[in-house]
Amino acid sequence: MNDIILCKLGEMILKGLNRRSFEQKLLNNIKKRLDNIGSFKVYCLQSTVYVEGAEGADMVAAFEALRKIFGIIKLERAAACEKDKDAIVALAKEYLKDELLQAKSFKVESKRSDKSFPMTSIELSQYVGGELAEVFPDTKVDVHDPELVVFVEIRDLAAYVHGPAVPGAGGMPLGSNGTAVTLLSGGIDSPVSTYMIARRGVRLIPVHFFSFPYTSELAKEKVLKLATELTEYCGNMTVEIVPFTHIQEEIKFNCPEEFFTLIMRRFMMRIAERIAKDNGAKAIVTGENLGQVASQTMEAMAATQAVAELPVLQPLIGMDKQDIIKLARQLGTFDTSILPYEDCCTVFTPKHPRTKPKVAEVAAAEAVLDVEALVNEAIAGIERVKVSYSGE
Ligand code: ATP
Ligand code: MG
Repeated sequence: MNDIILCKLGEMILKGLNRRSFEQKLLNNIKKRLDNIGSFKVYCLQSTVYVEGAEGADMVAAFEALRKIFGIIKLERAAACEKDKDAIVALAKEYLKDELLQAKSFKVESKRSDKSFPMTSIELSQYVGGELAEVFPDTKVDVHDPELVVFVEIRDLAAYVHGPAVPGAGGMPLGSNGTAVTLLSGGIDSPVSTYMIARRGVRLIPVHFFSFPYTSELAKEKVLKLATELTEYCGNMTVEIVPFTHIQEEIKFNCPEEFFTLIMRRFMMRIAERIAKDNGAKAIVTGENLGQVASQTMEAMAATQAVAELPVLQPLIGMDKQDIIKLARQLGTFDTSILPYEDCCTVFTPKHPRTKPKVAEVAAAEAVLDVEALVNEAIAGIERVKVSYSGE
């Protein structure tokens, strides 16, 4: 029996002339990811990526890895045979034996992308369904509400039999939409915003602002753990750890308290933009969410973003917290995010932050600082840490 995984492509099939390059990106991403697991043959035909394992390859691990690769909308494990109706029946009997023994009802659904096959889809479904019903008398054919659907696909190279598909990660292949910098704190939100932009095909450079000794070494480890957890979706990344202590102290000692957070966030933007430009990245991603905290009002965000030329992408802006948490749980970052280490944002939080600042007021409040020198110093002190998915 020829065990194979069929991955159906998502919206990239709408890309017209660019479609080939999207497919090529996806194939490269898949190959790179599966290299960790074993030896596989990967090819694309008719909007489907085929993944065949070499003898003894771990198909279960491959399937799990493929579920996290962007660009695949659904996937299924399937068995292949020659394009012959009786070969298909024989394969279905063997491959889906356990499922057919358990289900009270079933139907066969056929699809023919090879139109030279001598039966129509309906004829083939009826034939295979009839034969299976004889071999498995305890399950009856029910075309309206079956417990099990047996799928038969007649494609270019072979016929394939499989059970229900599972949803893939969706989105666009990583790297098909450029690179962005993502601000990664240790919180719940920014791992989710990072994931959401990666899902649109964007490679990411995580940037973390680190205020040692106000925030501990453990807080840094936590961020690196989050970044590592994200690599399953985002691929291997290099985290840029920016020393932020001096900037925060300068703000605390020289600027009005009500603007601490906003000035700090403006420094984050400036530094993120420098890192972006140095790495050819075209946007800055944050986990901001309208109204969640004082610095996430529209006025506060205007003050923060006024110093950035690049677009600031805020994929969580209109989400409810509980939906963000749900996504964080699905991604597997939630449990790490709630570890109790402090973030630099909470180090010098003003008692009464201004929620409706004027951009000019914030700019005036920070004018006492040597902004350029502080940014240069932070950039010069960056520590770069590579994170990769386990097994590599
Ligand atoms: P999160 O849950 O992501 O920490 P938050 O709800 O705590 O977000 P803020 O503290 O206002 O919100 O931060 C807003 C965004 O700014 C974060 O989502 C993140 O993108 C970025 N950010 C905050 N602190 C840091 C940090 N220390 N390093 C890097 N980025 C940060
Ligand atoms: Mg936070």
